[in-house]
Parts: sequence; structure tokens; C-alpha cells
Amino acid sequence: GFNCGIVGLPNVGKSTLFNALTQTAAAQAANYPFCTIEPNVGRVAVPDPRLDKLTEIGRSQKTVPTSLEFVDIAGLVRGASKGEGLGNQFLANIREVDAIVHVLRCFEDGDITHVEGSVDPIRDAETVETELMLADLDGLEKRAVGLTKRARGGDKEAAAQMTLIEPMLAALQAGRPARTAVPKGEEAAAAKLQLMTTKPVLYVCNVGESEAATGNAHSARVFARAEAEGARAVIVSAAIEAEISQMGGEDRVEFLSSLGLEDSGLDRIIRAGYGLLGLITYFTCGPKEARAWTITKGMKAPQAAGVIHGDFERGFIAAETIAYDDYIAYRGEQGAKEAGKMKVEGKEYVVKDGDVMLFRFNV
Ligand code: GDP
Repeated sequence: GFNCGIVGLPNVGKSTLFNALTQTAAAQAANYPFCTIEPNVGRVAVPDPRLDKLTEIGRSQKTVPTSLEFVDIAGLVRGASKGEGLGNQFLANIREVDAIVHVLRCFEDGDITHVEGSVDPIRDAETVETELMLADLDGLEKRAVGLTKRARGGDKEAAAQMTLIEPMLAALQAGRPARTAVPKGEEAAAAKLQLMTTKPVLYVCNVGESEAATGNAHSARVFARAEAEGARAVIVSAAIEAEISQMGGEDRVEFLSSLGLEDSGLDRIIRAGYGLLGLITYFTCGPKEARAWTITKGMKAPQAAGVIHGDFERGFIAAETIAYDDYIAYRGEQGAKEAGKMKVEGKEYVVKDGDVMLFRFNV
């Protein structure tokens, strides 16, 4: 599965948000299986009204949504890259996540100590990013020493790695994140380096309860920064999320609308997280279950089948595909087939968001 690491300075609301995310998911768990995998890892169902519609039309007994994992990563303080706080453990945890959810304190509350003495989310973002850049720089510099030696000795692969690494190294040395210097077309190779500053970032502006619908001056600055960086940002009030995490569906909708909100912060974070990771959803739908599956945009049919089971990918023959809209318009598989809306696609087919798929394969 795909996962997002929740990072931020101490006392910005990470744990409050993480607990609210996982409890809200648990409270919504009617059909939506949910679990806390470890104390700091939660799996959250991705809300998708299309899946409910498919369950209804396909008369499926069960609904299985796709999910995203969130990891609460504690221990980031100024100096983490030099081993301060839980420095090393923190860095190891963050290397393993696919995307970073960066919580920034945008709420004023004199009772809650700010580690840096005042509320300033841009300074905080820079503090955290600096630690990540320093750690990346350290790692890349060490790697470059070995690679340079091997490249001089005529090792072609090492030379190619150096070509990939050099611009990123230069960016980090100049105080810019490695993501600003990934060579075009080398995104996959760069991702394998497991640098922290190439990972996509979502800024979560944790604002006060009364500002959840509008944001405030602090969150406005974060949005401006996100836009300049090509990152994303959402406004959330962790305090509100904590309150609604215990509420049932209708109460929650009513409470949110009384605050001028259409959906929960959970929904916004999940949607943004999904977009951040370049993820899309395809479905399988039969009498036993209607199910959503997460894949990366651009995946071809065999790889997409492999998300269900490795055998589906290895033995892939073809995919019967019905677009979601056709599935609904023609009231299910049979109707769509009769209307000529079922396509048999081969190995090169690029799966689209919303495709309802059935794979044919050899075992
Ligand atoms: P973490 O260290 O980043 O995990 O921060 P916590 O989630 O433990 O929150 C630190 C303190 O800030 C706790 O006392 C929270 O109750 C409080 N807090 C978190 N979010 C908000 C918020 O949106 N508004 C207010 N007023 N307090 C909050």
C-alpha cells in the first residue's frame, strides 16, 4: 500500500490529528474495514461514493474500499539531522514513506508552548525542511565518494548514477530541496535513492476552530509558499477533527455544516494525499464484493492486475474493461456488455481512473 508520514515540530498537533484520523476512520467503519497496524501506523479507508453505487448496482454482498496508511513520525526537532531528539530513528522512518504530510501550527493558543517561542509556520517549515536537506546532503555526499571512485575505475553504472546525483547534490549544497533538481525522466531512478526532499509534500495548516472554514493569516502564507513550490496545502483544525472523530455520520455532517464546512479534514487530507501521490482507483465488482484498488497514474493493465495478486500480473492475458460511467448508465456488467461498452484490452492498456475491470490470466 501507499503511505504518508505525518511530520512536524513538537506541539503542532500531529498526534491529535493522527488520532482523529484513525478514530474517525474507525467510527465510519460500518462497511469500511479499518485498523491500527502499530501504535503509530493507521490505515484509513479512502471515501469514494462511486464504490457505494457499484455495490448497489452489482448487488455485491460486500464493499471493500481502498486505503491509505498514515504514519505518525515523532521526534523531529532542530538538529535532528545531527542526531538530536530521536534524530536517527526519525530519519529512518521518514525514508520509508511515499509522501510527507507536514503539519504546521497555525493556531494561536497561549496555553500551548511553541518550541520556537512564537507561531510562525513558514519558519517552522524551513526548520523541518533544513533538517531533511542536511540529512539528504550527508547521505548523497557519502554515496558520491564511492561512486566517483568506481566511475574513475571505468564503472559505467556508477558513472550514470553520478550523472543522476550531481544536480541534486548541487541543489542541496545551495540550500534547495533535491526535488528541484531531479533530471527529467529520471523520477523513478531518483525515488530509489530514498531521499527525503524528493518526496511529495502536503502542508497541513492546523488552524483554530473558528478559522477552519476560512483559514487565517498564517495559513495564507503557507498556501503562498506551497504554490511557489508546486506543493499542496490544506486547512484543518485538529481540535475539530478530534471532536467529530467520536460522532456518527449525521451528527458529523450537521456539526461540520454549522461551522461552514462541507467535509471533514480527514476527507480533505486523504483526497490531497491521493492526488499528491499521483494515485487513481480502479474497481472490481461481482456478487461477492465491490472493491476499489489503488494504482499509480500511468500503470498498464498487467501491473494494475498485480496489485490484486502477483499471479494476475505474471499470467496476464487480457482485461475486460468497462468505464465507471458506462457501468452505471447501463445498470451493470450485462447491460454494458450488450451496449458494446465492454472492451477487451491487452498488455499495453493504460488503466484509467474509474475503470471496472475483470482480468483474464493463466495460472
Ligand atoms: P504533536 O507534538 O505535534 O503531536 O502535538 P499534539 O497533537 O500532542 O498537540 C500538542 C498540544 O496542542 C496538545 O495539548 C493539543 O491538545 C493542542 N492542540 C493540537 N491541535 C490544536 C488546535 O487545533 N487548537 C488548539 N487550541 N490546540 C491544539
